[in-house]
Amino acid sequence: MTEPSPRLAAVILDWAGTTVDHGSLAPAGVFLDVFARHGVTVTVAQAREPMGVHKREHVRRMCAMPAVRAAWAAVHGAPPSHEDEEALYAQAVPAQIACLPRYSDVIPGVPQAIAALRARGLKIGSTTGYVRSMLDVVAPLAAAQGYAPDCALAADEVPLGRPAPFLLWQAAQRLSTWPHDALVAVGDTVVDMQAGRNAATWCVGVTLTGSLVGLGRAELQALPASEQQARHEAAAATLRAAGAHEVVRSVAELPAAVAALEARRARGERPGG
Ligand SMILES: [Mg+2]
Repeated sequence: MTEPSPRLAAVILDWAGTTVDHGSLAPAGVFLDVFARHGVTVTVAQAREPMGVHKREHVRRMCAMPAVRAAWAAVHGAPPSHEDEEALYAQAVPAQIACLPRYSDVIPGVPQAIAALRARGLKIGSTTGYVRSMLDVVAPLAAAQGYAPDCALAADEVPLGRPAPFLLWQAAQRLSTWPHDALVAVGDTVVDMQAGRNAATWCVGVTLTGSLVGLGRAELQALPASEQQARHEAAAATLRAAGAHEVVRSVAELPAAVAALEARRARGERPGG
């Protein structure tokens, strides 16, 4: 055992909707597109609902939705089979990779927030529902814009993706940071918060840049301030219900949230409490 410290050791951030791709627009569009190739129309809400899990699991969860099963059966005579799911996933991977360069813009304020966290002595990890071939497109583009975490784990590099805790634990190991209650998981989806809770880390939910609001930067800024606030509050309620200890509008506010968590930790509070 080392001397317990109130200081946090690392933040481990999600990618789409959290640090890049304002609104998490890239993954949602791909699922609409691949179902359409099979003559089946799905809604944006259906495409977004499983967001954050491994993309193969994302397809499986969409195919398990009663409305999607019915829409598929209306066209193909039966609900989607395991083979159909594998075909959809096989099409989603290259479609996702092809569109990723257009959806890899680093969210404003992220490089500055990361620099501030590093100045406080925190290490910076990252995890994603993207598989390695997708992360290999996004990460270099983000690095060129000033965001380069100390490690990056893809969903296919652990036995199970979110909501299992393994991505976060693997990132902690890569960063040589412990104990779990000195770590902060940051993400924009329900499964991001569930994974953080399952990993016994602190959880910070991101609202306005994320998948629950689902708007690009220009679309969001076109909304009146009162509507932005309403969207923030709705997403915050969902993320808190999923386990978020703190909620921020964007990663730009993360240093303040980390300071708040350190104050809670110094008072003896722990993420599971
Ligand atoms: Mg995300």
